Amino acid sequence: MAPVSPATTPRAGRHRKLHARGSGSLPVDAIDLHAHTVVSDGTLTPRALVRLAFERGLSALAVTDHDHVGGIAEARDEGLRLGVEIVSGIELSVEHEGLDVHLLGHLVDETSPALLARLASLRAAREARAARMVERLRALGVAIRLEDVAREAGGAGNALGRPHVARAMMRAGAVATIEEAFERYLASGRPAYVPKAKLGAAEAIALVHAAGGVATLAHPVTLPEDRREPVVRAFADAGLDGLETDHSKHGPDDARRFRAWARELGLVATGGSDFHGDNKPGVELGTGLDGNVRVTRATLDELKKRARRRS
Ligand code: AMP
Ligand code: ZN
Ligand code: FE
Ligand code: FE
Repeated sequence: MAPVSPATTPRAGRHRKLHARGSGSLPVDAIDLHAHTVVSDGTLTPRALVRLAFERGLSALAVTDHDHVGGIAEARDEGLRLGVEIVSGIELSVEHEGLDVHLLGHLVDETSPALLARLASLRAAREARAARMVERLRALGVAIRLEDVAREAGGAGNALGRPHVARAMMRAGAVATIEEAFERYLASGRPAYVPKAKLGAAEAIALVHAAGGVATLAHPVTLPEDRREPVVRAFADAGLDGLETDHSKHGPDDARRFRAWARELGLVATGGSDFHGDNKPGVELGTGLDGNVRVTRATLDELKKRARRRS
């Protein structure tokens, strides 16, 4: 389908087909397959996220919170009202040969008891980890409490993550930005870093498949350069369905290389912005960073085909 040119498009308000967006234009069948809400470390409620998707002209949106499917029902409710198709999703952290690999599940049954039970235990581990990070920070003279972190995360039961710790530190005046909190304290190797409980690759892929979903390796660019290809191959051997070739952290050369791997390995080439609201300034829903992400319905159709083949 022909992209809508911003130069020839009138200010179209909420009209989907004629909506030019932020960084460049989007195809009229644009979608986003990777986004976070307040149930993990995004800053928009599921409802507000879907409204934004609608305003940006997206016809489908995957809600892919870390270790949590609790935002999907509200998103779907708003999606039904606005005509935005909501794809149920999840983002899991996998430990593979000492690396932190993110795995997306799309089209999962978010009511699956096995999935819900495993996610609840991962969130409990996140809470224990946040408590340990707070202890370390206090020992370093940063006087925040676990309640402050929990408040940043919103409701009880939300997936506590380092961005919430970072925001609590900002509120306490210990750092000026989230980025500074990571650089000085929270990044791997920094003094308040505590590793997260993670799943094994086979376990995570099986969890997604058992819930009827398809598994995609997220943002491969975040892996060390010399480990990307072997990791993608190992996950493909373990039953991976897709590779996130387009992501706000991927430059054009990255995306090209990843698409070639996907083609070679028979994986669906997927994409998404990884929108987190104010927790990732600059990353926009549907378009990523400076317009580097562009995903259309054809990709979702491919994922659905894979899911049907599996069931
Ligand atoms: P967690 O799941 O608690 O380990 O936190 C991971 C989240 O922190 C992800 O959403 C990342 O995007 C975010 N994050 C990781 N490193 C940084 C960084 N250096 N600056 C800002 N956010 C980061
Ligand atoms: Zn996140
Ligand atoms: Fe991720
Ligand atoms: Fe993400």
